[in-house]
Amino acid sequence: MADDDAMTVTYTPGETVPHPALWGVLYRSSTPFWEAVKEHELKLQRCAGCGHWLFPPRPMCPQCQSQETEWVQASGRGKVASWATYPESPHPAFVAPYTVLLVELEEGPRLVSNPAGIDAGQLAVGLDVEVVFEDVDDDLTLFKFREAAA
Ligand SMILES: [Zn+2]
Repeated sequence: MADDDAMTVTYTPGETVPHPALWGVLYRSSTPFWEAVKEHELKLQRCAGCGHWLFPPRPMCPQCQSQETEWVQASGRGKVASWATYPESPHPAFVAPYTVLLVELEEGPRLVSNPAGIDAGQLAVGLDVEVVFEDVDDDLTLFKFREAAA
């Protein structure tokens, strides 16, 4: 498989779709989130009416039905809420074994991500982590979490 093939998945003959890591940028509501990540910033959508965090991003607040929202710089700090390590790869872009983190941000929303430089043996529920950014290529930047500085 050529390197270029690693970023597409073929579902039916002749039809390709972007790699799963790119799907988020295809949803209009989450575009500001991914644009911020590309600038190495973590921003969250918040309801301008009641202050409820909207994650994943959406066009209407589930608490007060307001459609007025704002994008707010997040602290980038949180705690590991859970994690899973996969022994097999579902796609060449994910080198097994790889670990997926569930991080609860200080602001409250929980994000799914990957660890950056954290050994599997160091992972624990409640571990303090902070966001880092990885430029995969010119079009894609991912956010990951490393152990927070003491
Ligand atoms: Zn609201």
